[in-house]
Amino acid sequence: MSLRAYHQKRSFQKTKEPRGEVKALRKRVSRKPIYVIHKHDASHMHYDLRLEIDGVLKSWAIPKGPINDPEERRLAARTEDHPFAYRLYEGVIPAGEYGAGPSMLWDRGTYHPLHQSGFTSKDVASGTLEFVLKGKKLKGTWVLFRFKSEKGKELWIFKKTKKDPMPGPRDVIKAFPRSVKTNRTMREILRDDAHG
Ligand code: MN
Repeated sequence: MSLRAYHQKRSFQKTKEPRGEVKALRKRVSRKPIYVIHKHDASHMHYDLRLEIDGVLKSWAIPKGPINDPEERRLAARTEDHPFAYRLYEGVIPAGEYGAGPSMLWDRGTYHPLHQSGFTSKDVASGTLEFVLKGKKLKGTWVLFRFKSEKGKELWIFKKTKKDPMPGPRDVIKAFPRSVKTNRTMREILRDDAHG
């Protein structure tokens, strides 16, 4: 695992995002792997889905955000692996820096793969990940699958599977506009953190 792309894009004298490192893998991990989603108002608003796999947070940017409806699907563009420490990040990335703008910790929890004991990078490379989310906001069975890969860009679909009942509101991003970490809105994060 490497965080090289993550480190190359950022200047850690300027941004308060964690430099982080690849977490040492233990042979036996008794706890469940974690999942988070950031709501990130950079050049365009999007939601960053992150799954802990092989000591890093594998990441996808979802422009429209998740939707709690198995009849709907959402585009998810694969982005660079983020450090495990990023699971706690919330704040404002300064102007001029990569991803400049407020980033809210919108959801957090754990997940488990549906058909196997744990995901590795090989499962990400295979292009299909089916898992059960136990977040504060997102719950139930979801799938990520890759449909296009060219010039180093990977396009995936993120959707709820048909097998699930539908817990929670359909328009989940509208229903839950606040941070799961600080209960702030995007506007409040911008106001509080923009200058410090
Ligand atoms: Mn982002």
